Amino acid sequence: MDMGIGGRWALVCAASKGLGKGCAAALVAEGVNVVITARGEAALATTAAELRALNPAVEVRTVAGDITTPEGRAAALAACPQVDILINNAGGPPPGDFRDWDRDIWLAAIDANMLTPIELIKATVDGMAARGFGRIVNITSGAVKAPIDILGLSNGARSGLTGFVAGLSRQPQLAGANVTINNLLPGAFDTERLQKTLAGAAAKTGKPLDAVTDARRQGVPARRFGQADEFGATCAFLCSRHAGYITGQNILIDGGAFPGAF
Ligand code: NAD
Repeated sequence: MDMGIGGRWALVCAASKGLGKGCAAALVAEGVNVVITARGEAALATTAAELRALNPAVEVRTVAGDITTPEGRAAALAACPQVDILINNAGGPPPGDFRDWDRDIWLAAIDANMLTPIELIKATVDGMAARGFGRIVNITSGAVKAPIDILGLSNGARSGLTGFVAGLSRQPQLAGANVTINNLLPGAFDTERLQKTLAGAAAKTGKPLDAVTDARRQGVPARRFGQADEFGATCAFLCSRHAGYITGQNILIDGGAFPGAF
């Protein structure tokens, strides 16, 4: 299927590794020019080289910086001639016990996983509407639908974003101008973050890493972890010409892990 987005420009945040990189790769394969961001220059340069090799016809620009800061966001936006597609992503907040979290810890999580995407949407969405095309995908988490106790910071901040997006995406001046805003909710994906989480669980419980990994995998009906490229493919479809009637949705990609009908 031709996604019909060749030649467009995408800003893909936090994209040197993992799910962000999967989204950038899928868009590049469709002929989309990308600006990718991450904090570390080295990983960003390696990923940019991979993306250029994947499709030499597109332009790949890199911006090293923290997307959760005003400076990081300004630099990312300045590097993109026009943002037709915005993929919002950043590292997730740490796990823990809410009794240990003070106001500053909460504000950092809300800044990273709620206000940063909102600021980037604010900076881009009206231009998209004026041009009659826009696609915004926020990478959130399956924990929005099935909150996990120790991920309280993530549950809270991402639920705030989800509620906000539910309202904004339905504004007629956006939905009526072919601008869509959707959230992609990953379950367990085989990325560095998941590896670190599993290693942490193994260290905490004293169980072998293999056993912890296998138990987690067995908890997924698909009996495997997701791959970043399949996450990217779903993202590219949501950004495609064909997905203009899908907006304000929360789309789980979790191998069947969420047990509910809706
Ligand atoms: P990852 O650690 O594999 O990759 C994260 C990427 O984001 C890296 O490129 C890193 O450099 C970049 N990054 C992190 N913080 C940044 C910042 N402040 N500014 C710029 N770049 C930044 O993580 P992932 O597994 O791809 O996860 C992506 C998001 O999805 C996270 O918010 C994570 O919490 C969420 N998530 C992941 C899973 C999973 O199973 N992998 C499940 C649920 C939710």
